[in-house]
Amino acid sequence: MFEEKTNQYMQNQIKLFEQLMKEMEPVEALINKPVNLLSVNSAEGAVFFYENKMYCLGNVPEEKEIKELITWLRTKEPGNFFQTSSLAKEFPEAEKYADIGSGIMIIQIAHDRSEYILWFKPEIKRKVNWAGEKNKEQTKQEDGSVHISPRKSLSKWTEEVKCTSEEWSNTEVSAALKLREDLIQVINKRANEIRKLNDALKAAYEELDTFSFTISHDLRTPLSSIKNYTEIILEDFGKELSPEAHLLFMKVIKGTDKMAGLIKDVLQYSRVGRADIRKIPLDMGKMLTEIKEEVLAPYGDRDIQISIINCPPINGDRTMLMQLFTNLMGNAVKYSPRDPAVIEINGEIKDDFVVYTVEDNGIGIDMKYAGRIFELFRRLDNVKNIEGTGVGLAIAKRIVEKHNGKIWLESKLDHGTKFYIELPVKQG
Ligand code: ADP
Repeated sequence: MFEEKTNQYMQNQIKLFEQLMKEMEPVEALINKPVNLLSVNSAEGAVFFYENKMYCLGNVPEEKEIKELITWLRTKEPGNFFQTSSLAKEFPEAEKYADIGSGIMIIQIAHDRSEYILWFKPEIKRKVNWAGEKNKEQTKQEDGSVHISPRKSLSKWTEEVKCTSEEWSNTEVSAALKLREDLIQVINKRANEIRKLNDALKAAYEELDTFSFTISHDLRTPLSSIKNYTEIILEDFGKELSPEAHLLFMKVIKGTDKMAGLIKDVLQYSRVGRADIRKIPLDMGKMLTEIKEEVLAPYGDRDIQISIINCPPINGDRTMLMQLFTNLMGNAVKYSPRDPAVIEINGEIKDDFVVYTVEDNGIGIDMKYAGRIFELFRRLDNVKNIEGTGVGLAIAKRIVEKHNGKIWLESKLDHGTKFYIELPVKQG
């Protein structure tokens, strides 16, 4: 009977490995199948901690109790395997759930992450059917497991097996250790595949950046020829042209200007993607004042108030951060058409981060689209009459991400928008 069981565990162990290789998804393979973590030993409960989630089978203690148990184990046992058949002796808190987990076996899958498998065996007292078992004694089996059978008085025996489970047999232990190896193999294989996909994706992005860089670069020359020749036509032959032809040529010039703007932006976008970042401590007060003058220049006759409040330094790439704040401040002015436009730029250090905000009292952004406006070429309906290419915020996001930071916003339609940029103070 016992041998039968042992064979079954071994067969199930092979089946688990097959499932793992086939599924490649450990949770699917070890939990959601008829042959699962409970099929490789006589435990009555099992828990699988994987990718920050906990998956349970059978009778297991409460989540809080399991977490406490793991915390205790971490301090006690640096290795990746632990088993006992009398947990409460070492960890008294476990007495509470002795009827579920007097014995535990645990394997740690990854050292650097909290990934474990735990098995629980109940207290023997609960398991043994007293009638008919009375006169047997404790015998050690060939594979190391122990069958405890009381000969002594009931109360004495009960005392002896209090908070004690059936022992973990050698077969059970080796199945657990083998499972650990199998699992690590599958996880590594999976990680390799993900890494390969990531590399391919990165290469595709780089190719796309190179492509857009080359194409936009090459488009500039023919485009400026179109514009130049059109201007020559208007200058030299303007008098001979009908007013309609004149108007059409003016439209050609306007179109080329618009296209040149788009090309410039796409070039900048791909440049940020390709460029290596060179970080230096930046005097933000000076930089923001320069940008302020630049963005105000085209709006000579409007009432635009830009206040620059606190300017903690940033350790970053000068060209990229110039570009970032030019885009945000440029948008703040552009999308605040009512006078006075009130714009405020402020920075503060919060723990290990420097957080800058750029706030305006303009047309605002419908927060439904807040997550999407950082996408390339994304423009919202309420800016139809305001010129733009939809590239500026995509560039801003790339720059922030290159600095390991975050960018987000708060906004209310017709009231204004506040952009947040958070960068780590210590740039690696
Ligand atoms: P562009 O300004 O050239 O259209 P951006 O990428 O800079 O492109 O911005 C994308 C879109 O986000 C804009 O078209 C506009 O709809 C919205 N947006 C950006 N900044 C603001 C702002 N300060 N106020 C209102 N809408 C904004």
